[in-house]
Amino acid sequence: MENNKNINRREFLKRMGLLGGAAFATTLLDPITTAAKAVIPTKAKDNPNTKMTYRVNHNTKDSVSLLGFGMMRLPNENKIINQNEVNRMVDYAIANGVNYFDTAPVYHGGKSEEATGIALKRYDRKKFFVATKLSNFRDWTRQASEKMYHDSFKKLQVDVIDYYLLHSIGGNGPNELKERFEDNGMMEFLLKEREAGRIRNLGFSYHGDVKVFDYFLSQHKKYHWDFVQIQMNYVDWRHASITGKKEEADGDAEYLYNKLTKMNIPVVIMEPLRGGRLANVPSDVENDLKQERPDDSIASWAFRWCGSYPNVLTALSGMSKMEHLQDNIKSFSPLEPCSERENAILAAAADKIGGYPTIPCTQCNYCMPCPFGVNIPGNFSYYNEKIDKRIIPLPDRSAKDYMDRAADFKDGFHKALSLDEDANKCRDCGICLPKCPQKIRIPNQLSRIKEILNA
Ligand code: SF4
Ligand code: SF4
Repeated sequence: MENNKNINRREFLKRMGLLGGAAFATTLLDPITTAAKAVIPTKAKDNPNTKMTYRVNHNTKDSVSLLGFGMMRLPNENKIINQNEVNRMVDYAIANGVNYFDTAPVYHGGKSEEATGIALKRYDRKKFFVATKLSNFRDWTRQASEKMYHDSFKKLQVDVIDYYLLHSIGGNGPNELKERFEDNGMMEFLLKEREAGRIRNLGFSYHGDVKVFDYFLSQHKKYHWDFVQIQMNYVDWRHASITGKKEEADGDAEYLYNKLTKMNIPVVIMEPLRGGRLANVPSDVENDLKQERPDDSIASWAFRWCGSYPNVLTALSGMSKMEHLQDNIKSFSPLEPCSERENAILAAAADKIGGYPTIPCTQCNYCMPCPFGVNIPGNFSYYNEKIDKRIIPLPDRSAKDYMDRAADFKDGFHKALSLDEDANKCRDCGICLPKCPQKIRIPNQLSRIKEILNA
C-alpha cells in the first residue's frame, strides 16, 4: 500500500473525496486545503517497521500515530483493571506504531492513570506521548485542582505531560472557563507549567454548542491552545444535535473541525465510533458498507473517515479487547483515505443513523454511579441496540406485533441487566444530569425505557 507522502497533492485531495461532485465532500474543500499545509502526514522515524500513518503536530513537531489509545475502557473484571491485559495491549500497540496514550484522573474510578503509568513505565520515555486532563468537575478549588494535576504526574510516573487538557468544558456555558480555571488561578498556573516545560501542549476537550466553542477559541490569543479535542465521527459531523432542536445543542463536528482548522489548531478526535455504536450499525447501513468493502470491519469505515481529515492529529479509541486494537491498527496502517464515493456512502449512512431515535449516549460512564443503582449507560446501550434492530419504537398499541415486540425487548433486557439496574429504579433525583457531557436528559430518556418495560 502506498504511503500518503508518496502521492501528489491533487491525488491526495482526490482520494480524500475533495475533487469532484459530492456535496458532502466538496463543501469541505477550503478548510481542508488550508489545514493540509499545517499538519502533514509523515512516517515515524523511530519505528521503521510499522506501516502506521503519523501526523506531525506543527507546534512541537511530535510525530503522532493516527490511532491514539484511549485508556477509558480498559479490560477489567468486576471493575478491577486487568493490568496484565493492559500491558499486553500496550505492548502490541507500541510494537505496531501507536505512540499516543490518553487518560484522565476520572477514568476507571481514578485507576486509569495508574494502570497507564505502569504499562508505559516499561518503555523508553521517548517512545510515547501521554495525555491526561484536569478533571476538576466536583471541586474547583485551587488546592484540589492543583493536587489533581500533581497526582497525575505521580500516577503516570512521568516528569512531563505531553498533552494536557482542561477536561470536558463547554457544557456549562462560557462561564465555565472563568469559574473552573480562571478564578481559581489554574489557567495562570498551567501557563507557567507549560512555560517550564512540564506541559508540552495545552488544550481542552469540548462538549457543548458552537457559541460557547467560539468563546473558548476567542481566548486563543491569551492562552494559545496547542490542540483541541472534539467529538467527531461521520454521524456527529452533521447530526450532533442532542435535543433535535439545533439552536440548543448544535455541536456539529463539521463546524468545530473547520473552525479549528482555519485557526491552525490541531484536532484530537474522541468518540470516532460514537461510543461503539458505529461498530454496530443498523442492518441496512451494515449491508451498504459490507457490499462496498466486504472484507473490512464496520468500525474501519469510521476510523478511515476520521483519518481522512488532515488536520486530525490522532483519533482516540477506547479499546478493551485485543481484537479491537488489532482491527483499528489495521485501519491506519497505512491510512487509505475515504474516496469520494465512500464519503457519499457514509454521508447517506449518517443520514439514516441520524434519523433513528436513539439516545446519544457514548458510554463514557461519567454519570455513574447512580445512588439508586440504575445502570444508566447499560440501559441506553440496550435501548439503542433495539432501535438499530428496529424492535423499537413500538408501533401503535393496537398494532398486531405490539406485545410481541415489547416482550422481545423485555426478554433480552433482563438478560443484559439485572432488575436492580433497570430504568424503573430511577427516582428522578437529577444527580446524574450535570455530569453528562452529551447533555442527555437522563431521567426523561429512562422513561422511554420504563414505558416499554411496563407495557
Ligand atoms: S435521575 Fe435517575 S438515573 Fe439519574 S442519578 Fe437520579 S435516580 Fe439515578
Ligand atoms: S448518559 Fe451521558 S454521562 Fe452517562 S454514559 Fe451516557 S453519555 Fe456518558
